[in-house]
Amino acid sequence: MKGLTMFKNMMVSIALTLVSGSLLANEVAIAIHGGAGTITRANLSDEKAAEIIATLEEAVTTGHKALKDGEPSVKAIQKAIIILEDSPLFNAGRGAVFNYAGGHDLDASIMDGSTLQAGAIAGVSNIKNPILLAFDVMTQSKHVMLSGKGAENFAQSLGYEFVPQTYFATEFRRSAWERAMSKQQKDTQARLVDLDIDYKFGTVGAVALDKNGNLAAGTSTGGMTAKRWGRIGDSPVIGAGTYANNDSCAVSATGHGEFFIRYNVAADICARMEYGNKPLKQAANEVIFDELLPAKGMGGVIAIDNKGNVAMPFNTEGMYRASVDTKGTVTVAIYGL
Ligand code: ASP
Repeated sequence: MKGLTMFKNMMVSIALTLVSGSLLANEVAIAIHGGAGTITRANLSDEKAAEIIATLEEAVTTGHKALKDGEPSVKAIQKAIIILEDSPLFNAGRGAVFNYAGGHDLDASIMDGSTLQAGAIAGVSNIKNPILLAFDVMTQSKHVMLSGKGAENFAQSLGYEFVPQTYFATEFRRSAWERAMSKQQKDTQARLVDLDIDYKFGTVGAVALDKNGNLAAGTSTGGMTAKRWGRIGDSPVIGAGTYANNDSCAVSATGHGEFFIRYNVAADICARMEYGNKPLKQAANEVIFDELLPAKGMGGVIAIDNKGNVAMPFNTEGMYRASVDTKGTVTVAIYGL
């Protein structure tokens, strides 16, 4: 009898291990980016490259740990993005590019692939972590996108702490702004869209698959250096810079936003999977290389499907990127392969 009870207890404990362990749970995976552009070994010092790699690794492993701990993908991507927003190395949060007037306007968005809920903010100037406010727009309001003063009033109603504009400023971005401004002043025909993509790389984003098989995507940026007239890029536009749908994939984009909006990049990759039955890599490559590149739309994406496959194509010289795949393998890279 005693032996039978022990046997039963053992079976219960094996069953519990199976339920809580990885056999019944989905494998998790995550990918992040820190922007795309003409990133060459010549224009990036070894020291700076090492700092960028270390920060990307910290962000991707933090997000991955959250997923392993059972947190939803929509939370894990925020943890990764906050590290990148708080780092002065990236064009998001602290380290955001300067606008035409010498200030900073931030854009961000997030999408939950399990519900198709989404939240975005555009043109806010005093929010430390824009991705958190985008998440609150998704979960605490009935809207998808809030902009400017209105978005900040919404943040105030939720008790957000505001930071001064000086919080975002860095010398690196100030000198890029000075170069952009002198280019614009010399060339009276110059328009924002003519500005070199190198004046802005450093947008950040994350995509993830959690233990419940749910996908999520998020993106955060300061936009393009010397932007004016309240210009908004693709990053806060659901479908262009960010998209997630459990039926297909989750995508976060970086690059010349005007192209990414017109080519509806993130949603197009997911649509090619869903309606064309294409594998993730093919769908993402087609949009980046066959659609954007011939149109001179420069940039890249990180994408993940509901099996945890990751694709990170870009048509620029480099894209700051990192991933942890379903086997737990960590990859961090800057340049093309
Ligand atoms: N896509 C962003 C924008 O156009 C910039 C970037 O990704 O680097 O605002």
